[in-house]
Amino acid sequence: MITCAICSGYFIDATTIVECLDTFCKSCIVNYLETSKSCPICDVPLSKIKPHQSLRQDKLKQSLVYKLVPQIFIDEMNRRRQFYNEHNDQQPVSKEDGGQVSVHSCYFRPNDKISMSIEYLDE
Ligand SMILES: [Zn+2]
Ligand SMILES: [Zn+2]
Repeated sequence: MITCAICSGYFIDATTIVECLDTFCKSCIVNYLETSKSCPICDVPLSKIKPHQSLRQDKLKQSLVYKLVPQIFIDEMNRRRQFYNEHNDQQPVSKEDGGQVSVHSCYFRPNDKISMSIEYLDE
């Protein structure tokens, strides 16, 4: 569910083909479509002229990866901060794009202390 058939790793920038809903890392599927114009898993044909039109960023599957393996989120945010440090000519489009989002504000790790409360709703 959360690993890429091309690189066998967890999804990075999860990207789904709209015709068949198979998901890959963005960079994996973009590279793949340089030489082939069909889905690597089920072989559904994509537009020969603009195969990238079939690709959609899949935030739901990406957040599943981050929830199950929060370290990937931490690593990805570090990588983005480093990228923008080294490329001063480019500006991040959002805080998350720039790696400025703390893992604590989005995902719990197994050793994080959390508390829950149940409240009675008086109608
Ligand atoms: Zn991949
Ligand atoms: Zn497919």
